[in-house]
Order: sequence, then structure tokens, then C-alpha cells
Amino acid sequence: MTDFVPDPLLTPLDQEFVPMEQKLYVKKEPGTTGKYLSAALRDRMKTDGKRFWAGDNISDYITESDREHLINEATEAFEKVLDTLLIDRENDPNSKGTARRLAKMYYNEIMAGRYEPAPDATAFPNDSQDRYEGMLVVRSELRSMCSHHHQPVSGVAYIGIIAANKLIGLSKYTRIAQWCSRRGTLQEELCNDIARAIMKATDAEDVAVYIQAVHGCCENRGIMAHSSLTQTTVLKGAFQTDQSTKKEFFDNIKLQQEFAPR
Ligand SMILES: [Zn+2]
Repeated sequence: MTDFVPDPLLTPLDQEFVPMEQKLYVKKEPGTTGKYLSAALRDRMKTDGKRFWAGDNISDYITESDREHLINEATEAFEKVLDTLLIDRENDPNSKGTARRLAKMYYNEIMAGRYEPAPDATAFPNDSQDRYEGMLVVRSELRSMCSHHHQPVSGVAYIGIIAANKLIGLSKYTRIAQWCSRRGTLQEELCNDIARAIMKATDAEDVAVYIQAVHGCCENRGIMAHSSLTQTTVLKGAFQTDQSTKKEFFDNIKLQQEFAPR
């Protein structure tokens, strides 16, 4: 950590550098051993054996103030990308602030689920004599993006669960699904991630997730398919082992689609 040097743009040169929890924005200067904060964080995750793929949550490694510094670093990097694409970001009024807009959009919106901790899903006990023992199916709108092309993925997830000893608020299913999807993902992985996060929040073993989504990378480029739809299903516990539970789940999905087509 002592190798780091402050960013002269943010810290005037005549000011003494005072480390704050050793996590100031730092910038690599030629001939120094200083590092970018993003490089330091990557090193830390590698040392810890922490995976940081596009679909992984790394909120344990990033503080709120880090995020501002990382947006600065990403802005600089996006400026380089725009320059390499030969876009005149100095004179084109529409491209002037684009690098910063992209950096903020990645960190605060389209990949926010990587940097933010899991949504707080307070669980309520479901262990009284007349407890709910039926199936619950919640439909959640999804917005994600593919890891391969960073193109939007949009659709819906149907989350099925057989109530266990804990219940969470209905909106929490969607919050959890959106937290999982605001990352770079594969739809197959996203389906698994949502099932895992719901199982964790509810302690339920019987969980199913069905996603149908359209992929920008098939619509805007490549095969330019305008009516393609990708479906993925993950079935856990009774949804996998019991045919009538599985059927009830898919019947519920059909009922939901009749109620509000999509
Ligand atoms: Zn793609």
C-alpha cells in the first residue's frame, strides 16, 4: 500500500498526501510503482482467490467512496476507447461527456449488482400452525446485459417457491432478481444465480426460476433476429423431483401470462 501515489489531478502537488484508510484514488505515474485503485483491488481479489467475473458480486471489496474513484478511472479508460474509435469527443457536443456517462452508467446502473451488497430482505417467520404451505410464483421484470457483447438482455423471471419456515416480502423477490441481473451475465448463469440468492434469503430448498428474455446481441448485431426468445429453467428440490410440483409451476406461469401477457 505504501507504493501508492496520489492522483495529482485530485490532490494538488503542494499538498501533503494523507492516506485515508489507505484507499485514495491513485494513478500510475511513469517511473513510479504507483497503481490505479482498480489494479490494487484486482490484486487483492487475486491474492484472496476471489473470483471477479462479470457476473460476480464483489461488494465486499469496494466501499461507497471507492466507487467514485473507480468511476474516475473508468472515465479515463472510456476516453481512450472513444479516441481509439476516432470519435471527436472534444468538438462533438454529443460525445463530450460520453466517457463519464458510460463510466457512471456501468458502475451505478447496468452493472450495479456487482458492486452493491445483496438487498436487505427481512424474513418473517412462517412456522405457526396455520402456516402457508403452498406454492408462490412471482414474476419479476429483468434488465441485464450479456457478458460477451455488453448488449442488453431484457425479459421476465418467474420465481417459484414452496414456502418454508421463512417468508420474505413479495417485492424482495424482484429486488433480488434485479440485483442478480444488474451484472454482465449469461442467461443460464443468471437463472442459477437468482435461484441461489432466493434459496439463501428464504432458507427454502424448493425453488424454481424460469426466465424468458430477448438478447440485444442477437437483435442488434450478428443474426439480427427480431423475434428470438431465450428460455432457461432451474429447478431445485421438489420442483425437480416431483412432476406435479413442476407442472403446477408451469401452469402458474401460463396463468400469469394469460392475466398479463408478455
Ligand atoms: Zn452477447
